[in-house]
Amino acid sequence: MAESNFIDYVKILCRSGKGGAGSRHFHRAKYIPKGGPDGGDGGRGGHIILKGNRHMWTLLPLRYRRHIYATDGQSGGENRSHGSDGQDQVIEVPIGTTVFDAESGEFLCEVTADGQEINLLRGGKGGLGNVHFATSTNRTPRYAQPGQPGIEKAVVLELKLLGDVGLVGFPNAGKSTLLSTLSSAKPKIADYPFTTMEPQLGIVPYRDSQSFVMADIPGIIEGAAEGRGLGLRFLRHIERNAVLLFLVPADADDIVKEYNILLKELREFNPDLDIKNRVLAISKSDLLDDELREEIAATLPGDVPTLFISSATGMGITELKDMLWREINSEDNPARFAAVHRPLDARHRVEAEDNFIFETEEIPDTDEELTDRDWEEEFWDEESSVNDQ
Ligand code: GDP
Ligand code: MG
Repeated sequence: MAESNFIDYVKILCRSGKGGAGSRHFHRAKYIPKGGPDGGDGGRGGHIILKGNRHMWTLLPLRYRRHIYATDGQSGGENRSHGSDGQDQVIEVPIGTTVFDAESGEFLCEVTADGQEINLLRGGKGGLGNVHFATSTNRTPRYAQPGQPGIEKAVVLELKLLGDVGLVGFPNAGKSTLLSTLSSAKPKIADYPFTTMEPQLGIVPYRDSQSFVMADIPGIIEGAAEGRGLGLRFLRHIERNAVLLFLVPADADDIVKEYNILLKELREFNPDLDIKNRVLAISKSDLLDDELREEIAATLPGDVPTLFISSATGMGITELKDMLWREINSEDNPARFAAVHRPLDARHRVEAEDNFIFETEEIPDTDEELTDRDWEEEFWDEESSVNDQ
């Protein structure tokens, strides 16, 4: 299967830097045989920072960066000199990137704005030099704090597309054709399931100067929610769409049944999706005569707005845009801006089988010892920290 340029899932091992040790140095100078302590503080370890970048659309740049390590802080030195801080690592990600702990599946954070910075893993604090520990009873403290260890964590970054309208339908329903009709996006169209291997985004101009974003999500096939087929990989993008446009072709054997299967797949994937505003469009309606259309119309479900459309003839297209616009902007649209965070557990299973998305290759253990065994926590006084920044 062809490698996709649209990468919406990466796993990376991140590590923040260790804090530098405080120095235990004593001042030595001619004529001052017993100088006082002058050991400076260690520098802070580098942070691992995530930064939103609105010019990025995929996680592709991270695909081959399996390890991202910030550097350690330097030790403090004599004459109160402060060790330099470790270098931060700033990971630029597209807006809509969600971060999970790769081991527990726990949701960690989400990048939602351009330029937003999230400190994913803080660098260890530098240790205080002995200069801080001199007291009237102990003028020659031989103790200085070690640096705090860095943090190592394997994380999964997932990208969810932000779209106002998500297209939902089996392969061949006419989704790509509709998107190319409504927007300037040029998706591949063919009589062939899974033509669309990557979600496509199109901007749909509406009325004079307005627009909304429509996402063509590759065909769902029955059983996608249980991990069969390609669908599930893309279902997560749907979690973000404010409105779901279900597309069932007029020449389907049983239109209502197909719609119900689609609905069931989505519910199985995420029960919260039920709250979404939905529209059901019968595509390829140019294939129907008036009589047949009325016959079908009588069978359609009453709890969802329905519409007959044809990308080929333009039938119902303007009405469809009006209807979508209304749904997107309706005040009772609870899905609008509602982010749905689900733990990864259900997905791991699928990704393991789906090795074209994500190589199941293990992240190798690093040989470098991470935790500083000398680290004595009881000596660390959060309040007295001079390096925290
Ligand atoms: P997708 O798999 O849902 O993206 O479906 P496509 O957009 O690739 O279309 C599948 C097939 O249906 C193609 O052969 C299209 O030419 C055809 N098709 C799409 N829209 C219409 C339509 O409005 N009327 C008719 N008659 N055929 C259509
Ligand atoms: Mg398609």
